[in-house]
Amino acid sequence: MIKTEKILHLKSSRGRKVRVVREHYLRERVPCYSALCQGDCDNEGKVLPGDLTHYVVPDVGIVLDFLEILEFRELQGIIFTQTACQAVQHNKGRRQYNRLRNLLKDARHDCVLFANEFQEYSYCPREKGESQEKWQTRCVYSAAVWYYNHLAGMKNIVMVTDDSDAVAQYSSLNSGVYVISMQEYLHNFWLDVRAALELYSSIAQALQEREGEVSEREYSEHLPHELLEAGIKSGRYLLGILNVNKHRAQQEATVTTQISSNKSADISGDVLVFGSKHRNRAVYGDSVVVELLPRGEWRGRATALTETQGEERSAEDPSSQTMPTGRVVGILQRNWRDYVVTFPTREAQSQSRNSQKILTVPWDHRIPKIRISTTQANALQDHRVVVRLDSWESTSLYPNGHSVRVLGRAGELETEIQTILIENCISVPPFSEAQLKEMPVVEVTARRDLRESHLVFSIDPAGCEDVDDTLSVRSLSGGRLELGVHIADVTHFVREGSLTDLEARARATTYYLADRRYDMLPAVLSANLCSLLGGVDRYAMSVLWELEADSLDVASVWFGRTVIRSSYQLHYELAQALLNGEEAQVPELNPLTPEERDHRLTQLTQALETLTHVARHLRAQRDRGGALELEGMEVRAQLDSEKNITALVPRQPLEVHETVAECMIYANHWVAYKIQEAFPHQALLRHHPPPRQEYFSQLQESARAHGFSIDTSSNKALALSLEQAVDPQDPEVNRLLRMMATQAMSQAMYFSTGALPADQHYHYGLALDRYTHFTSPIRRYADILVHRLLMKALEQEAGLGIATASNRELEETAQHINNKNRAAQRVQKLSTELFQCLFFRDRDPQTDPSCVSDAVIYGIRDNGVLVFIPQYGVKGPVYLRNREGQVVSAAADGGCEWSSGTVKRHSDHITTSSALGTTTLRLFHHITVRISVLSNRCHADSLLLQLIRNLPHESQSPAPGQSQPKVQLVQEVRRQAEEASQQKASLKGRLSREERQFCQSKQPNLYSLLEEIRELALMDMSQHGNRSQKDVSVEL
Ligand SMILES: [Zn+2]
Repeated sequence: MIKTEKILHLKSSRGRKVRVVREHYLRERVPCYSALCQGDCDNEGKVLPGDLTHYVVPDVGIVLDFLEILEFRELQGIIFTQTACQAVQHNKGRRQYNRLRNLLKDARHDCVLFANEFQEYSYCPREKGESQEKWQTRCVYSAAVWYYNHLAGMKNIVMVTDDSDAVAQYSSLNSGVYVISMQEYLHNFWLDVRAALELYSSIAQALQEREGEVSEREYSEHLPHELLEAGIKSGRYLLGILNVNKHRAQQEATVTTQISSNKSADISGDVLVFGSKHRNRAVYGDSVVVELLPRGEWRGRATALTETQGEERSAEDPSSQTMPTGRVVGILQRNWRDYVVTFPTREAQSQSRNSQKILTVPWDHRIPKIRISTTQANALQDHRVVVRLDSWESTSLYPNGHSVRVLGRAGELETEIQTILIENCISVPPFSEAQLKEMPVVEVTARRDLRESHLVFSIDPAGCEDVDDTLSVRSLSGGRLELGVHIADVTHFVREGSLTDLEARARATTYYLADRRYDMLPAVLSANLCSLLGGVDRYAMSVLWELEADSLDVASVWFGRTVIRSSYQLHYELAQALLNGEEAQVPELNPLTPEERDHRLTQLTQALETLTHVARHLRAQRDRGGALELEGMEVRAQLDSEKNITALVPRQPLEVHETVAECMIYANHWVAYKIQEAFPHQALLRHHPPPRQEYFSQLQESARAHGFSIDTSSNKALALSLEQAVDPQDPEVNRLLRMMATQAMSQAMYFSTGALPADQHYHYGLALDRYTHFTSPIRRYADILVHRLLMKALEQEAGLGIATASNRELEETAQHINNKNRAAQRVQKLSTELFQCLFFRDRDPQTDPSCVSDAVIYGIRDNGVLVFIPQYGVKGPVYLRNREGQVVSAAADGGCEWSSGTVKRHSDHITTSSALGTTTLRLFHHITVRISVLSNRCHADSLLLQLIRNLPHESQSPAPGQSQPKVQLVQEVRRQAEEASQQKASLKGRLSREERQFCQSKQPNLYSLLEEIRELALMDMSQHGNRSQKDVSVEL
């Protein structure tokens, strides 16, 4: 090892230049991470494959400016030099540096880090008078040459630089080491990766435009970091995340301050930031520092419903309370992501001052317009495009960005679906060949064989393909019972750290959209190898309880890996029919003789009866503890032989649903105990915090208006009072009350046991002290983690040494999964809204009867009411006053007219008064609304609900079919989209190839449909005030 000195010129945060001398040690051996290594390198971890045409070494400038192109997975064999990485750290900040580090860690991406400055033969000391840039370029070139020699000339090395002097100077020095520009590199090697080429020209354009740009200042300068940090410490400034009011995005933003930063005792919660000057270039989600304005300048936020974006109310609502108000003085951390924007039409473009710069409108209302430099403006008009933000100078009214890729024309189904995914940071690329090649693996662990000893069966919705869970129950000698829950052994096939594991972890869950799903695992696993199908041998993770004969107390419990063969794949209705003693066909028994069939049928029915008995007992136990039944699946789908959905019928409340659910809850509960016992500080559990009492006010007020009282003092009291709040005349009342209770709930979340005190581990909704997710590893990553923890707990018991993730790592993973689950809920909701809008878009609201519907009032606001439309599962506002100040009045026959008048809000009703008379609308009353679509070119369309009769809708169609339009809606919209896309054969061909090859399902499965309907019952089309902005928990 050779010791030398290295001189660094750094910029301090005050902008001063600092000279730092560091001892620098050079080594002969520094890993090359190449499969072709001709030295004796210690190449642990990721290694570049040998079968590539070349390796590429990007220069510092390329890594700084074009990192996002180097992130394309198609680009292989990339060597990042230490020189380039340090430059990113110094010039681009922590966020970009972390991005690069994550890229280097990501096993799915073919790139490595070479510590060139520690390598004796590649290191070059900086020469006197040599500029930093020239020296860095020389270092990178030297690294490229080192690789060529180290691999004995077996691999061509390409150095990429946009410094034309360097190209001239180095390109003919060594044969086998090529020095070319970024553009040449992409054109020569990656011409088929069009997205990369397009992104290149987009970034290059933005870089060019940024040079030499001088204009006057639009905003005040941000304070330097150390002033911000000192100000936060002293309590002069507050630190928090900027949140923008979606309905008044230009004007109203709030900063949710962090408690630790909040030293002023009288400031609790949010600080209002009003207007764009005070927001000072902060973007939704940024971590910002605010200074409070003098009290005289404080103001309140508006509370009334706004009709549309753009109709900003200039005068604030007098009823709104004054709150702490401040201005942004600096930004600690940008939190920019990819945004979908819409390019303006040609007419709008010609009005902009500079034709090179196009002002685009983000899909998300909360994001400001973004200036994009492009020569493609004509081709892109009316298209949705993914863009990234580059900078926002104080001299620029809007931030600058560049386009990344084009999604397609606005309004088309595929464009809109992709938009929803990107806006929620969900990436679902087709599973790669490499991932598919990984499986299956060879069996190594010992397993308990249950194939002969246990009668195992599954009960799922009809047509279910991915069977996660199966059950067994039998009598033991001595009168005890044995209950068994057997879960697909996914971790047997998905090894920790494998490519499939990484992808599953990144997705964290299967995504269910209105018309399709994106699986967490490749279909070969989810629908075949892991799926616990009938009649075939399958690996499982089992929990077996031995229960006392009479008390059903647990005498002992066994956890472990098993091999099972499920005898029956039952569906709910069949299982319930057997339990009810009805005539039923069990397909598995058809080939048998009548005697054999009777015998087996008796055996199966007995097992189901015992199971029901046990489940009733378990449920009663939890009920005593106060378990909640908040919202259930209200409808079920009927499928034909090709699994097309033919109808939705209201669900027959089947006890067997609860029986299966109860057994799964029990397994999750016991596994939670087991893993926490083994790993007190690093077990993955799921908790459900009790709701904050103030969130119940709407529920309580509404119930009172109807003569019910809701006791929210405990989960048990709430469950009981909800059960009693039934109007025999109108089932919607109880449903809406339960919906409001659900809205008030906190979200159930995963956590690592070391991250929360024990008294917060409680699951409020299920009334259990410990809970986790173990029973659905095919569609939830949390369950995969829990399976691994359970195996490690068992190995630890057997005296084997084990290593688990630390509390901090596990908590990080838990938060990642929580975030992805929230995103999954949002995309499901958004895609449902998309389908609703597409369904109504081409209908004439004046003549089409499906545009008129019954609605129930569930909320009162200053200028209107909130309604729920059971037929379509839509929730939204109905305005009683319009922009011209006119109000709706109803005649005696219910018919409505607009005329000038006033609106008055009361706690449980709202009245309008005009020359036509006084009209009253009350909570829970049924009214008739007309549904039409409010088109919006740049954002998502929305539904407009108008009061047309102040009486229930007299529907011609019979009530039982009322749920059908929801499914028709999805089918109809898909059919139209298919027709439209048949004209674009190329696109369709590509999609279906992906479907075939990578098994990304386009059909919703039954589960998704049921979940969707469950979600529909919870939908809130618009967000009003704080409370409804919370995400709603569906999965306990
Ligand atoms: Zn080597």
